[in-house]
Amino acid sequence: MRKGIADLHRPPHISQAANGRYLGAIASVEDTTSPDELTARPCQPAKRNGRGYDLAVVGAGSAGFSAAITAAERGAQVALIGGGTIGGTCVNIGCVPSKTLVRAMEAVHQAAAAKRFAGMSAAARVDDWDAVMRQKDDLVSSLRQAKYADLLPAYNRISYRQGKARGGTV
Ligand SMILES: Cc1cc2nc3c(=O)[nH]c(=O)nc-3n(C[C@H](O)[C@H](O)[C@H](O)COP(=O)(O)OP(=O)(O)OC[C@H]3O[C@@H](n4cnc5c(N)ncnc54)[C@H](O)[C@@H]3O)c2cc1C
Repeated sequence: MRKGIADLHRPPHISQAANGRYLGAIASVEDTTSPDELTARPCQPAKRNGRGYDLAVVGAGSAGFSAAITAAERGAQVALIGGGTIGGTCVNIGCVPSKTLVRAMEAVHQAAAAKRFAGMSAAARVDDWDAVMRQKDDLVSSLRQAKYADLLPAYNRISYRQGKARGGTV
């Protein structure tokens, strides 16, 4: 984990006004989040190009990762600032856990629906809810690791900063 001041400079091709509109005004990063085992992983520091970062991406969810990777692949030095658990909503508390539980309960529902058909019956029930939740948590952890945390070392143009970005001037 790296924490501290993100030293940001406006790229010369972006006007002061546009910079304010599109990039926002991000001056510093304050660490407010207790690191978990993933966000605490050391990430490859960005190689500085002598004029600071070209772009600050606030939020290390799916959109933030996509933006940071796209910019890095086009040559930008990127500060990716994550204020919550790395991976954001979808992998941690949104799509992945919700669809895992929805699919599990669908199996129970579908079995119960079999008796609508003549000559058929099927049964499925939840034997161990804790096991269902553990499997869901394992999936979340493995996808968070594979799709987010493990990607960062591959991009030496992206410097991941754990902490909450707050407004300022660039
Ligand atoms: C229960 C649920 C189920 C869902 N299911 C689906 C689905 O099946 N399919 C689908 O397409 N979408 C689904 N979504 C929507 C999907 O999760 C979101 O659209 C997606 O995660 C948004 O990604 P994002 O990167 O824009 O934001 P997020 O993933 O929310 O990431 C934003 C990140 O920015 C951080 N942040 C905010 N402010 C700051 C700051 N000042 N400094 C630093 N960091 C900051 C936050 O902590 C967060 O980690 C679901 C959402 C929920 C809640």
